[in-house]
Amino acid sequence: MYIIFRCDCGRVLYAKEGVATRKCVCGKTLKVKSRRIFKKVNTREDASLAVQDMQDEIYGNTGFMKASDL
Ligand SMILES: [Zn+2]
Repeated sequence: MYIIFRCDCGRVLYAKEGVATRKCVCGKTLKVKSRRIFKKVNTREDASLAVQDMQDEIYGNTGFMKASDL
């Protein structure tokens, strides 16, 4: 299972279930267990798609933020 959650900076991340921490591209290290879980999916592909869908909803249909936009 993969868990979909958001960082405080607003980015959507996913982590494999059981993983304790996940580092966001903003530099913040998140404790996965303490985050509010938006969604759980079975595969990495589904997790990746779910993240992209949520990013699209949040940022408009532009896909992922590029590193150059940070
Ligand atoms: Zn972040």
